[in-house]
Amino acid sequence: MAMITVNVMTNRRKEMLDITGVVRKAVAESGIKDGLCVAFVPHTTAGITINENADPDVVRDLIAQLEKMVPARRDFHHTEGNSDAHIQASLMGSSIAVIVEKGKLALGTWQGIYFCEFDGPRTRKLLIEVARSK
Ligand code: ZN
Repeated sequence: MAMITVNVMTNRRKEMLDITGVVRKAVAESGIKDGLCVAFVPHTTAGITINENADPDVVRDLIAQLEKMVPARRDFHHTEGNSDAHIQASLMGSSIAVIVEKGKLALGTWQGIYFCEFDGPRTRKLLIEVARSK
């Protein structure tokens, strides 16, 4: 399947958006039953991660803790003023890979895929590729 590009509209400066449905749809449309799905964020102040999607407080806590670990400060070297966002994006990473089994993402019961916005709100891009294993 060809790689697909999805636009992701974020609403706040820091936000974790559940994009599991978007990735599931890409897998379904690929028609691939067994393989690997990669989702990649081509940005330097946004990232992607997998974590619990049952209790929304988990991602609230994640954002709150990232803010405590990397607060916005005026003494960073980068003059654009968004070094907190660059560092938080690197902490989350820019891609995830999930095994595709019998046409479905092999996510655990409580796992969801989150687009991590750290310098929004913006319109972002998400690249999804599904590859057959054999
Ligand atoms: Zn910057």
